[in-house]
Amino acid sequence: MPELERHSFDVLVIGAGGAGLRAAIEAREHGMRTAVLCKSLFGKAHTVMAEGGIAAAMGNVNSNDNWQVHFRDTMRGGKFLNNWRMAELHAKEAPDRVWELETYGALFDRTKDGRISQRNFGGHEYPRLAHVGDRTGLELIRSLQQKVVSLQQEDFAETGDHDSRLRVFQEFTVTDLVLDGGRVAGAFGYWRESGRFVLFEAPAVVLATGGIGKSFKVTSNSWEYTGDGHALALRAGASLINMEFVQFHPTGMVWPPSVKGILVTESVRGDGGVLRNSDGKRFMFDYVPEVFKDKYADSEAEADRWYTDPDTNRRPPELLPRDEVARAINSEVKAGRGSEHGGVFLDVSTRMPAEEIIRRLPSMHHQFKELADVDITAQPMEVGPTCHYVMGGVRVEPDTGASSVPGLFAAGEVSGGMHGSNRLGGNSLSDLLVFGKRAGAGAASYVAGLGERPVCSDEAVAGAERTAVAPFAGEGGENPYTLHMELQQAMNDLVGIIRRAEEMGQAVERLDELKRRAAAVVVEGHRQFNPGWHLALDLRNMLLVSECVARAALLRTESRGGHTRDDHPGMDPEWRRKLLVCRVSGDDVEVVEEPQVPIRADLLELFERTELEKYLTAGELEA
Ligand code: FAD
Repeated sequence: MPELERHSFDVLVIGAGGAGLRAAIEAREHGMRTAVLCKSLFGKAHTVMAEGGIAAAMGNVNSNDNWQVHFRDTMRGGKFLNNWRMAELHAKEAPDRVWELETYGALFDRTKDGRISQRNFGGHEYPRLAHVGDRTGLELIRSLQQKVVSLQQEDFAETGDHDSRLRVFQEFTVTDLVLDGGRVAGAFGYWRESGRFVLFEAPAVVLATGGIGKSFKVTSNSWEYTGDGHALALRAGASLINMEFVQFHPTGMVWPPSVKGILVTESVRGDGGVLRNSDGKRFMFDYVPEVFKDKYADSEAEADRWYTDPDTNRRPPELLPRDEVARAINSEVKAGRGSEHGGVFLDVSTRMPAEEIIRRLPSMHHQFKELADVDITAQPMEVGPTCHYVMGGVRVEPDTGASSVPGLFAAGEVSGGMHGSNRLGGNSLSDLLVFGKRAGAGAASYVAGLGERPVCSDEAVAGAERTAVAPFAGEGGENPYTLHMELQQAMNDLVGIIRRAEEMGQAVERLDELKRRAAAVVVEGHRQFNPGWHLALDLRNMLLVSECVARAALLRTESRGGHTRDDHPGMDPEWRRKLLVCRVSGDDVEVVEEPQVPIRADLLELFERTELEKYLTAGELEA
C-alpha cells in the first residue's frame, strides 16, 4: 500500500465558497499557516452561482437605511427565531465587508452619483442589495480569489514559496474529521482524480461546506451540496440547530424537465417582475399574511407606485419573504390555476423595455433563451418552488464561529442560527463574509492559545480509511444512484414545502430503510476517478442530514418560515422559544428541545410592542 500523503497546517478551511475564502484570508492574516480544501475546482462553489446581490445597510439608494432596519427585517424574515446576536453582528458589519471587497478588487454596479448601487429584494424594507448585474456571486468569488493570490505573492516575496502560508487543495473531498480526546486534530479525505488518501494534521478546522440541497429532487443546488460539513460536525460530536427549516425558493425553472429547479433570481421581482396565475391574475395580493398586512400594498396601483415612490406607498406583495411567496405559488397550482407545466407565470416582459431587461438581468435572459427557448423580453417565464437553502446548521458561538467541539468552527450556509426559520435573499452573501471573517479569526486565536497540539493517531486514521473503502467491499449489491434517487424522491414528497405528521413519519421510516440499504452499497472498479464511489460516500452524509431534517420537522408542531405544516398551520409563540437540537449518538440521530436564548432588551426595543405581540408569548412581553 502506498504511503499516506500527509500535510500539516495550523488552520484547515474545508470549502472554498465565500465563507471559506474569507475565513482563510483572515486566518492567514493572523499569521496562521492555512490550507483551503475544496471538493470541486477552485472558484466553482455555490457562491459563484449567486445572482441577485449582497445585503448590507449602506443607505446608498435610500438614506433611511441603517443596521437597525436591516436587523429588524432579518428577524421578521426569520420569524423571530434567529439567533439575535448573529443577526445583530451581521447587520452591523455587512457594510464594512462589502467595502472591504472593493479593496480586494471587486467592482459593484454604481448609482448615478458613483456610489455602490443597491436593489430591492423580498423582505428588505429599503433597496439594500449591492450587485453586479445578476452575477454578483461571480464578482465575490473572483475578488476573494484575487486576495488569496495577492497574499500568496506577498508570501513568495518573503519566503520564496507561494504556498508557504496559504495553500489551496482543489478537487479534494474530506470524508472524516480526525479527533484526539474530543479535540480536532485534522481531516482525512481523497483526491477526486486519483482516489488517493491524504491526512491533513491541524488543530483547527473551519467548516464552510455550504448546503444540503442534493437530498431533494427539485433543487437549485449543484452536485457538491450533499451536507458534508453538517455530517462531519455531527459525527465529531457537534450539534445542529434549525434543521427543520429548509428554504424553498419560490422561483425555480419548471420546464423543460432537464432544468427543473434551476434558480430564477429574486431580482426579477425586485426589479418589477410580477407573478400571475393561468387566469392572468396577480395573485399575491390574496396571500399577504396578517403579520405583514401593514407593510404590503393591497392594490396593483399602490404596488406599482412603490417602485418610483417607496416613501408614500407600500411594497408589492411579490416582495414578501420567500416562504410566503413559495406557499402562495404552491396553493395556486394546487387549486388548478397553474401553468401548463405545473408552475405559475413570472413576467417582466410587460414591465420593462427589452433593452433594460437585458441590461439588468443578462443571465436570466441567457438562461431562458438557451435552456427553455423562452425570450423573457417578450414572454413570461414559467416558475415554481425549488429547494434552495438550509437555514439549519452547526450550532456556533456567534462571535467566533466556534462549535461545541474544541478546534471546530463553522461559517456560511453550514452554520445555523443566523437566519432563524427563513433567510432573506441577499443575506447569505453578507453572512458568508461577516461570519467567515469571524470564524477565521476565531480559529486563529484558538490555535494561538493552544498548549500541546492534538495528534492524529494511527487508529483514528486507519478507521477513516476503512470507512472510505467500505463501499468496495460491500455485500448486498445496493446501487448508490438508486438509493440517491429514492432519497431525493422521499424528501421532496414527504418533507417538502407543505408537511404533515403522517408523511413525515413515513419519511423517517423510509430513511431508516435507506440507511440499512446504504450499509450494503457496492461500487465497482477502483479508486481512480470513480463517481459511483464518490456518491456512495456522499450518501452517508445526505442520509444523516436528511434524518435530522425529517425528525426535527416531525417534532415542531407549528408552521414558521421554511417549515409549513398542514396539520399545524399557525405560528405558536411557545415554539419560538425553543430550538430543536440534533446530535448523533452511535448510529442514531437524537433531536432534543432546548430553550432559545432570549433577545437582548435593547434589541427588542427596536420593535413596536404591537409587532412583538405577534411573535412573543404573554410572559415574554411582561418581562
Ligand atoms: P459554498 O459557496 O456553497 O461553498 C462550499 C464549498 O465547500 C465548495 O468549495 C465545495 O466544494 C466545498 N465542499 C463541500 N463539501 C466538501 C468536502 N466534503 N470536502 C471538501 N470540500 C467540500 N445568496 C445571496 O445572498 N444572494 C444571492 O443573490 C444568491 N443567489 C443564489 C443563486 C443560486 C443559484 C444559489 C444556488 C444560491 C444563491 N444564494 C444567494 C445562496 C448563496 O449563494 C449560498 O448560500 C452561499 O454561496 C453559500 O456559501 P458558502 O461559502 O457557505 O458555501
